[in-house]
Amino acid sequence: MQIIRSVDELIDYVADQKNRHISIGLVPTMGALHEGHLSLVERAVSENGCVIVSVFVNPTQFNNPEDLRTYPRTEEADVKLLAKAGASAVFIPAVEEVYPDGAKSDKVYDLGSVAEVMEGKFRPGHFQGVAQIVSRLFILSRPDRAYFGEKDFQQIAVIKRMTETEGLNVSIVECPICRADDGLALSSRNTLLSPDQRLRAPLIYKALRESVEYSKSHSVRATHDMVVEQIDAVPEMKVEYFEIVDARTLLPVEEWEESPRIQGCITVFNGKVRLIDNICYRPV
Ligand code: AMP
Repeated sequence: MQIIRSVDELIDYVADQKNRHISIGLVPTMGALHEGHLSLVERAVSENGCVIVSVFVNPTQFNNPEDLRTYPRTEEADVKLLAKAGASAVFIPAVEEVYPDGAKSDKVYDLGSVAEVMEGKFRPGHFQGVAQIVSRLFILSRPDRAYFGEKDFQQIAVIKRMTETEGLNVSIVECPICRADDGLALSSRNTLLSPDQRLRAPLIYKALRESVEYSKSHSVRATHDMVVEQIDAVPEMKVEYFEIVDARTLLPVEEWEESPRIQGCITVFNGKVRLIDNICYRPV
């Protein structure tokens, strides 16, 4: 596996693959890799001749400086895991390499209404930062396919929109959420949980799962309230938002009949650690 640290090296590497008509799969990550990331890499390896994984903690998508400062960084372990998973190259640039003119950009991406709700509301600027880095990675690595996890359900909708409005010819592949045996969605931020917080964290998915059963005989409002009440009752846990939305528009629904595909998207503070998860209500 090739380790690439500069933009020029990446451009040359990609040109070489293109000259040889090898298909390129891209997996953008912020490192601190776990099985969830590796499931994306494995899928990409099975579908492309060359797989590039980027490992870059993108400062422009953090609206909270403390979150950026404490974000876990495990470069050496990441490189080993990627080599084992069969990645062809890892792109690990420094911030100045990605943003030579400074990370702040005047460009405003047209991300539409899918970027305004939920994460867009609670993390101002977050999706502009995501669009900035992902579009840059798409332009530099010219992938045929790019792989994203459904754990960041809204992010996929935003990236699809960005890809369209920026006219980038990349097919977006959506991959299922990987969970720990106790149900907790795998996340780099899970390593920041105290032992007690980690023990309680699976209650998020437990509440979501129970609510799918509950939703069959209860209204959207009642299902919403049941989830929030269950999680808020756990020590140190506080729901930031829980929205039951049309999976396409990401706008809240009031009735289960309103859309053929309905998703519940949740963000919970477990102590200071912000965890996200989601579940499908319709089709069940
Ligand atoms: P991150 O490093 O958190 O920015 O995540 C990089 C990519 O991995 C994103 O597309 C995430 O949605 C995906 N990802 C993160 N956690 C998981 C998970 N538990 N299951 C599946 N994909 C995931």
